[in-house]
This record gives sequence, structure tokens and C-alpha cells, in this order.
Amino acid sequence: MSNLFENKRFFCYQIKEDLKSVIQNNQGQIVEKYQDDFDYCIISEERSKNISVRVYYKCVDNGIPILKPSFLTSSVKLNSLDIANDHKNTFPSFAHQWIRKGTLRYLNYRDPKPSTKIFGFDFDSTLIMTRSGAPRSLTTDDWQIYNGNVIGRLKQLLEEGWKLVIFTNQGGVDRRGYEWEVSVHDRIGQFLDFVNLPIQVVSTCARDKFRKPSPFLFGFFEKYLNGKLSINAQESAYVGDAAGREGDYVTTDYKFARNIGFQFYVPEQLFGISDPPSLLTKQKLEQRPRKEQKEEEKEKTILERNKNGFYKYQIGKTSMRSFDPMTIKGNLRKSKTKYAAYTKKELSAGIKQEIIVLVGCPSCGKTTFYNNYFKDLNYTLLNHNFDDNSLTKCLDNNGSIVIESDKCLTIRKRRQFIEIAKSKKIPIRAFYFKATVELANHLNWYRVWTQDSIYIPSIIYKITTVEKPQKSEGFKQIKTISFRPIFENEKLESLFYLWTEELLIKLQK
Ligand SMILES: [Mg+2]
Repeated sequence: MSNLFENKRFFCYQIKEDLKSVIQNNQGQIVEKYQDDFDYCIISEERSKNISVRVYYKCVDNGIPILKPSFLTSSVKLNSLDIANDHKNTFPSFAHQWIRKGTLRYLNYRDPKPSTKIFGFDFDSTLIMTRSGAPRSLTTDDWQIYNGNVIGRLKQLLEEGWKLVIFTNQGGVDRRGYEWEVSVHDRIGQFLDFVNLPIQVVSTCARDKFRKPSPFLFGFFEKYLNGKLSINAQESAYVGDAAGREGDYVTTDYKFARNIGFQFYVPEQLFGISDPPSLLTKQKLEQRPRKEQKEEEKEKTILERNKNGFYKYQIGKTSMRSFDPMTIKGNLRKSKTKYAAYTKKELSAGIKQEIIVLVGCPSCGKTTFYNNYFKDLNYTLLNHNFDDNSLTKCLDNNGSIVIESDKCLTIRKRRQFIEIAKSKKIPIRAFYFKATVELANHLNWYRVWTQDSIYIPSIIYKITTVEKPQKSEGFKQIKTISFRPIFENEKLESLFYLWTEELLIKLQK
């Protein structure tokens, strides 16, 4: 250990008492190899004592120097001569205690007090902007405050009795791992140190049921992070840049506010127009794409404020860019029944033994359809990559079968089932699910919310080909199935009518 740090400068920082356990849990683990030309810095609790330390090293990523945390922690004797005081506070926010709860991370900065009224915020492009001009922060330090009004405005909200909470989606953590997690959360920590106000942060790190615009994120917050106080949604508000405006990357923030019943604002309404990126270095300017500040935006730079302090900013046209579940409600109302379930008559062909193939895009409700209508009739479901023996075995026992598999989606692939049906003289029908990809994506998220399942990545819709079944293929009958929901209870029903995240890929029309 001592060799490793010989002739290196040690930077020393105070850490909070409660971070000690994190450090000690990792004690002794070495999962990265060191190279000699790195600069090391050490976060320590005290000088001149045997203490546990966390080591960070400087390295170069895409030509940009960054600090990376190592996984090495150990006990080391620090000598006060090794400490470079001039570097104190370089990155103090590593000292913040982030609490991990499953895929969520949260942090209480300066002891935020529970309140029945919440002012919630998105983080990226709402409270901060990048310094590089890139749409997303490229490094831990690639951030600057949104503009000079932020701190004053946050202070004012606190004085008026709101609790300030950052709700941020950091799904990249799931994909990119621990280093990314440290980088993202340290950036938030740096921001908190900068504004130095009592703020709570909840960060979602996976594409699971807590990701905005999910109401479960808010549910978790209300249950565990607000001193058991219920939130008054009418008095609460949420601010975010993802509002589905032209040029907005996504709609998540607007949907989140709608789903939890909060008043919604875009950052421009609260803080005015953001400062343009102050590009980090000349080198970066050449390397990275610069976000052009449009002429019209420059004109809008000075905005008027109303008497409540909000800026008179026109949000303009927004679009949810996803399936509107209320259209289903509209259809149900028209049909004057609570649930527009299919009738036996509509689905049955009056056949003793048969094969049914379900054809439709991923997550459009095929398995649920089977469970609702064919499970009780003793049809066997063969799904995913079932083995072909199970198919013939079941047919030889006079059983009926529903096949829900990728193998049913194209004419070429499903030909095998038609051949088998022919050879055994058993009728075969195709049920074609007319659901749009947008509806399927809504059902995909609905399943994540209600069954704790994993979101099927949206790329699946792009790579999956669905060919509408034709009678000429040899089917006895083709039934077109429009989506009709059946809900087990009112809670599941109300969740269905909330907004879900749109597809994040572009489909060829
Ligand atoms: Mg944002």
C-alpha cells in the first residue's frame, strides 16, 4: 500500500461518520489494476491516523481528464505532509450518504423537513445544464447551474413552506454500472453543495416500475421519505424539461406530473431561460457538438414575470407521443359495460380439437388474452421457444393448443404448424391482434408496473416482423382481435389509465 502512494500527492477530505460503513464494507477489495501515471487522491476521515480510505484516480476518457473511483479501499497511515490543502473541497460531494433501496437511490441533503406540499424537480436540463453543450453530461463535472435565478427561487419556495425534492431518472446506471452511478450521483452532490439548501433526491436507476412517469416512484416517496405525511397533490408542483415540446427529447416530466396530480411547470416558467453552455475547454469545443442557441431563443432571453414570480413563458404545443389510454375508456363508455370482454360466441368456432396461433407484436396482450379466454377451456399454451415434441404429444392426447411464439409471426415460420395441423387433420385458426406498437408499448409498461416484470426493450418492436395471417396459408378461420381490457380490481384499472413512457426509438412507418 505504501509503495502505491509513494511520491503521490494525497488530498484529504472530511467524510461524514455514516459513510464509514460503506468504506469498511469494501475493505481490502481490489478489482482494478493501477497504472503508474495516475494521480491518486484519498478521502479520509482524519489526518495522521490509520484510517479507511477510498481512492480516486485521474485518467483520460475520450481526451477529457476525469476522476474515477477505484474499488480499492484499505487502511493507510496518512502523514499530514502528504496532504495538499489547496485541493480541499475539490469534490466534497463524495461524502454524501446515498442510500440504496433496490434500484432506487436517495439522499437527504441538509435534513429536508417533511411537508404536505412538495415542489418536485427533474435534475438534468432543469436544475442544471451541461457546460459542454452536449445534451447529456459527458463527465462528472460537466454541469453548470441552469441559470442565476435557481438558488433564489429555490430559497423562496422553501420559505413558502414547500419541501424540495428532485425526482430523477438515471437509467444509465443499470446499463453502465457502478462507475456511472458514482459519476451521476456525484454530479447531483456537487449541485447540492453548490446550492446548499435542504433538498431530498430520489434517483431511479433501472427501467423498472419506479422510473418516471411511474406513480410508484411517488408512492415510494410518500410512504418512506416524507415522515409519514400524506402529500396534498393540489398544492404540489413538478418542474421538468421533458414536456413533449418540439425539440424535447421525451415527455416524461409532464406525464409524471399528470400521473401524480401535480401542477406542472417547465424550467423556463420557474427560472426563465437557461444560460447557454460555457464550453469547458477549447479542446472540448472542437471535439464535442455544440448546442446552437437558436436566434428565436436569444430573443426570448428576457422574460416578463407575473405577480407570483413565474415567468411568462409560452409552453406552446406539446404532444404525449404515446398511446392515450383514455381512448380505451371512451370505447368502454360507449359500450355501456365496465369491461368489454369478448363473449364465448365471438371466439369459439365450435370445434372439439384445434390449434390456435396468436399473431401480434410483442407485449400486445396475447398471453393475457389466452389466460382470460382459453385457459379455463383447457387449451394448452405453448409459448416462447417451446419444444416441438410437446406440440405433437398434446395433439395426440386430443388436446387443443394455443401457440404464442415468435414462430407464429411470419408466414414462413408458422407454415410448420399448418403442416402439422394438416397431417393430423386438426383445424387451425389464427387470431390476429390489431394492437398498434404504441398500445403494445403501453401494455409493456403496464406489465412492468403491475407484475414487477422487466420492460421489454423497445428495440424489439423495430426488429420484430409481424405478417398478417391470410386464409390462403391454410387457416380455417382468421379472427381479428381488438384490445379489450379486463381488470381484476379498481387499482389495476386506474393504473391502466395513467400515462406511460413513449417508445424511445423511431419506427419506420
Ligand atoms: Mg431533464
